[in-house]
Parts: sequence; structure tokens; C-alpha cells
Amino acid sequence: MLPTSSSATTTHPLPDLSDTRIAFASKSDRELWQAQQLFRIIGNPTITGVGSWLTKVALALRLPISGLVKATIFKQFCGGETITESLATARRLAASGIGTILDHSVEGQDDESSLDDTVSEVLRTIEAAKGRGEIPFCVFKPTGIARMELLEQVSAGGERTPAIQAEWQRAMARMERICQAAFDADVPVLVDAEESWIQPAVDERTEAMMARFNRKRAIVYNTVQLYRHDRLAYLRAAHARAQAAGYHFGVKLVRGAYMEKERERAAAKGYADPIQPDKAASDRDYDSALRYCLEHLDDMAIVAGTHNEQSSLLLARLMGERGLPNNDPRICFSQLLGMSDNISFNLSAAGYRVAKYVPYGPVREVLPYLIRRANENTSARGQTGRELGLILAERRRRAK
Ligand SMILES: Cc1cc2nc3c(=O)[nH]c(=O)nc-3n(C[C@H](O)[C@H](O)[C@H](O)COP(=O)(O)OP(=O)(O)OC[C@H]3O[C@@H](n4cnc5c(N)ncnc54)[C@H](O)[C@@H]3O)c2cc1C
Repeated sequence: MLPTSSSATTTHPLPDLSDTRIAFASKSDRELWQAQQLFRIIGNPTITGVGSWLTKVALALRLPISGLVKATIFKQFCGGETITESLATARRLAASGIGTILDHSVEGQDDESSLDDTVSEVLRTIEAAKGRGEIPFCVFKPTGIARMELLEQVSAGGERTPAIQAEWQRAMARMERICQAAFDADVPVLVDAEESWIQPAVDERTEAMMARFNRKRAIVYNTVQLYRHDRLAYLRAAHARAQAAGYHFGVKLVRGAYMEKERERAAAKGYADPIQPDKAASDRDYDSALRYCLEHLDDMAIVAGTHNEQSSLLLARLMGERGLPNNDPRICFSQLLGMSDNISFNLSAAGYRVAKYVPYGPVREVLPYLIRRANENTSARGQTGRELGLILAERRRRAK
């Protein structure tokens, strides 16, 4: 169960995020060694590039490599192939006070029956979370329940054919089913953010869902990507709309995951790049968003989805400065399974609310997700990646 008492107002010194003993306490020596080998391999750009390609080919040819993938990279970054399998991961995280956000990570299927299947799966995650403190949120991706091109078309505005209008009605009904179920189960639901060109439709619908279901507390959360230069302004404007209409504003703050794609499309189509000019600008707006939210917590709830240590510590510091208990129920820190355990476990040990995205799905279907994680952890030749560095530090500590 995640700590959520709001009675205590004690503040603690900032947690030490470099404490690898706490970060890896749940990992045996053998598990640590396996994680080291994995990060060594995926840290090599050549191996990762060739390996990703070979894995795709092998799976497409139905060669029996699922077992190998499952025992290695899948084990590091995924909870299991099904909700039931992932519950074991949830229990393991819960033993360290960390919550699980079951993330059905099957991508790229957009026929109507696949979209309906995704809704059924998200409803099952809500059912699994109901009454279970160790699963404090559910999540879905807009493109899991609506076709990308549909979202793009609606976002662009303009005339809709009757067929498009009918398809849009079906997509809206899917979102309503999920949000209604989340409300009925009293399990907050996060709406992930994807590409900027589909976000207007997502924002409009998510705010409509908030207006309906967030009267007493935040059940529906939108995601704000601060790598976009216009999103701090959006955060303020959307919050003002929530205040005017009298509902709680739920928001997950992230930097954003589609930078190259955004820049390439803007250049190809000749419109202004929606992304910040540099990393420092993304960092500045992310931290400003944290500050803004903390100043307006009376009618807001936030999830800080980040692997950035400075931003995580800033949020912890701001909470302390405002006299908030570390376990304030309106604030949750969040990282992905298998990454930044130093942040998750040390914050949790210091009494903060932490929940990890736990991706799950059949090995073959979560492969795009795994390849993204591998690429993200690939470092320039000769450099030790951050995750690998932490693992090595812990192995050295244990060897003493
Ligand atoms: C729990 C969780 C949920 C998430 N949900 C979503 C989601 O719904 N939608 C989504 O898009 N992403 C999501 N992400 C991914 C997130 O957006 C980031 O891509 C990822 O977390 C890396 O950013 P960071 O804050 O962890 O840290 P850092 O490593 O400090 O930041 C890296 C990020 O900075 C930005 N950046 C890097 N270089 C530049 C540059 N030159 N110019 C401008 N900006 C730059 C990019 O956004 C990059 O991803 C989620 C992440 C987590 C942990």
C-alpha cells in the first residue's frame, strides 16, 4: 500500500539518490550481475542496432527467440505478458512501498476491433487496480483507442465527413467508458501524450472528461510535455479553465519522447518547430511547471514522470519548503520499470509516493517498446551509461 496519510507535516532532508544500497536492495547478486550484462550489451550502439534488427527478423520469421528475449531485456523492462504475471512485479515493488501503473504496451494496431480490444484491456487494468493500493493509477495512450489519422484530422479542425464524425463518436465513447470505469473504481487514469499534431483533440477530450469526473478529486489526468515551448502556457490556461468550471486539474508532467519525429515533421512540412530550442529550455520549463503546480495544489494533483534527478529533487525540495508531508496524496513521482531505480527506491524509502510504469504484453508485441528502451540506454562508444554506472557502483559496494 502506498503511503497517503496527510496528517504528518514533518519534512525530511532531501533523499540521497545516489544510495545504491537502497536502490538495488530488492535485487540479488545474481540479478544485479544479469542487469549489468544487459546494460553492457545494450550500451553498445553496434550490438543494439544489429540486435534490434535481428530480433525483429527472427520474430517475424517465427524463430523461437521469445524465450531469450523474455529472460533478458523483457525481464528488465516489462512486468510480464499478462496482468496476472505483472501482479508479481507489482507485489515486488509494493514490498519497497512503490506503486505499479499497469501499461498495456501493445502498439500500432488501429482497426476498430483492436481499438475495442485495447479498451477492454484497460478496463481489466482498472479492475485489477480497484481496491489495491499498490496499483495507484491506470494509463492509456490515445492512439490505443483512436486511429492516429482520425486524431490528426480532428485536431486540425475543419469539415468532417459523416463517416469521420461517426468514427470520432466511437472514439469518444471508448474514452468515456475508460474514464467512467476509473471513476466508478476510484482509480485515477493517466492519458499519455504523443505527437503534437494529435494533441489538440486529446486535450479537448481529456479536459471534458476532467470536467465530468474530477469534481471531488483528480481522477482523469492529462499529460503535459514540457519539451514543447508552448506547453507551460497550456498548463496555465487549462488550469484556469478547470478553476473557472470548478473541477480538479490532474496532470502528468513529462519532458516528452518524440523530439526527433517532431523536428523532422516540422522541417519536412515547413512549419515552426514545436520543440524547445535546447535541452536547457526543456529543463527550465519542466521545473517551472513543477513550481506552478505546487503553488496551485489546492485544486491540482500531479504525477512527475521523469528520470531527471535534479527535477525529482527540486520537487522534493519544493514540497519541504511548503511544509507538505512527503506522502502528500496529490503528488506522485513516477519512473519506468527497470530504469532509474535509484530515484524510485530512494524517494520511496524517504516516504514519498512513487509509482512505476510496468509495461506488459506478449513478448512479440512489446518489442517496439523494448527496442526504444535499448536505444535510449545506448551510449556513445566507451562511455558508461547512467544505469550501468549505478549497477557497477552497487556491485563494488557489495564486494567490499
Ligand atoms: C512515468 C513516465 C511517463 C511518461 N509518459 C510520457 C508521455 O505520456 N508522453 C511522452 O511524450 N513521454 C512520456 N515519458 C517520457 C518522457 O517524456 C521523457 O522522454 C523521458 O522521461 C526522458 O526525460 P526525463 O525528464 O526523464 O529526463 P532527461 O534525461 O533529463 O531529459 C531528456 C529529455 O529532455 C528533452 N530534450 C533532450 N534533448 C533536447 C534538446 N536538444 N532540446 C529540447 N529538449 C531536449 C527530451 O524530452 C528528452 O526526452 C514518460 C516518462 C516517464 C518516466
